[in-house]
Amino acid sequence: MSDPASGGAFDLPAGYLGLQREARELAASAAALADRADEADHVDPEMRELLRRSGLCAVMVPSRYGGRYEAVDSLAVTVVREALAAESAHLDSLFAMQGIGSYALTVAGTAAVRDRWLPAVGKLDAIAALGLTEPDVGSDLKAITTTVRRDGAELVVTGRKSFITNAGDADFYTVLAREEGPGYSLVVLPADAHGLSVEHPHQIIAPHVLGDVILDEVRVPADHQVGEPGQGFRLMLATLATFRVSVAGAAVGLAGAALREAVRHTAGREQFGTPLARLGPVPAMLASSWADIEMARALTYRAAAAASQDPLASLHLSSLAKVGATEAAGRVVDRAVQVMGRFGLIRGAKIERLYREARPMRIYEGSTEVIFDSLAKHLVKELT
Ligand SMILES: Cc1cc2nc3c(=O)[nH]c(=O)nc-3n(C[C@H](O)[C@H](O)[C@H](O)COP(=O)(O)OP(=O)(O)OC[C@H]3O[C@@H](n4cnc5c(N)ncnc54)[C@H](O)[C@@H]3O)c2cc1C
Repeated sequence: MSDPASGGAFDLPAGYLGLQREARELAASAAALADRADEADHVDPEMRELLRRSGLCAVMVPSRYGGRYEAVDSLAVTVVREALAAESAHLDSLFAMQGIGSYALTVAGTAAVRDRWLPAVGKLDAIAALGLTEPDVGSDLKAITTTVRRDGAELVVTGRKSFITNAGDADFYTVLAREEGPGYSLVVLPADAHGLSVEHPHQIIAPHVLGDVILDEVRVPADHQVGEPGQGFRLMLATLATFRVSVAGAAVGLAGAALREAVRHTAGREQFGTPLARLGPVPAMLASSWADIEMARALTYRAAAAASQDPLASLHLSSLAKVGATEAAGRVVDRAVQVMGRFGLIRGAKIERLYREARPMRIYEGSTEVIFDSLAKHLVKELT
């Protein structure tokens, strides 16, 4: 029988097995810190040090900049996130954002900006962040109000970014801003740039390193523009195409961990003279979760393998995997809490933490409904 947290249903290409082993070793070494780090609203220094020492952030930059592979590889990122998310959302997020926050630089940054940040990202000497969302703008990013204007040899960025992962701990922010003319651009803003400040107005149910980034006439050299003016959405699409499937990997890892908690508890506790795992609908709930996880994992790795070949051409598969796996994780954690009864609700229990951590996954990096909408458009276009 394959362990729901083992990745057994998918034959990982041999070249990735060593990476998977490393990621699992890191996750195991981080387990004792997870309770603390996953409740933190700043980067946990010990967790950061473990991740730094593992060398795994080198997966997030190309070999030219000290990275592990020639190019950032969706399958590699997915393999690592599945392992890390099974132990700690904090660790998984810290790893994931190194790629998500820096990928536009990899694709289109100027030489000076790449040289400044990418080697540091790969070594986790610098923390990356991506600023798209604003207080009044979430899914509908074309409505952003943050602006960028050229002033001689400088760019001036003004606005407010909200719900930004790593805000306050990041060393740079890759920010989406509206051009003076039509179009949007990404601009790299070092955290110590004059006029950039951070506030922490919100805490969420699964604590996360999160904050608002206030941009008050932030001035940076013109070479901090990423790509040509007007390429902001194209670069964001490239980022999504490479990383969206890795959210599915994290969801599969988290769901596998939840199922293990549920099985351990229900096999060990008797009610009415029978282990819970054999009582009433409980066996079917456990098996349904196993089926959910295996289906999600199969789709996730099919999509990740396709994305590692051609991320843009396989974005619909990555989107299907992201929705499928995060919705599956939501069902799995809910069933796990239910079969564990009151023990599933105790603050500080691993399952209680996983239950909370599964919830944001259905909202960030494309909410389920927004992804369904674009998938339906793709489907109709393909079939008519
Ligand atoms: C833990 C966490 C970390 C985050 N980190 C970052 C980050 O690092 N950087 C960043 O820029 N942002 C980040 N975000 C913000 C995230 O990207 C947004 O929450 C997301 O884009 C959704 O926007 P919203 O929350 O404003 O929801 P809204 O856009 O207001 O949507 C609300 C609801 O309406 C639905 N909806 C919206 N539009 C449509 C549509 N066209 N069709 C059907 N349904 C629709 C949505 O599915 C959702 O259910 C983070 C969020 C969370 C929870």
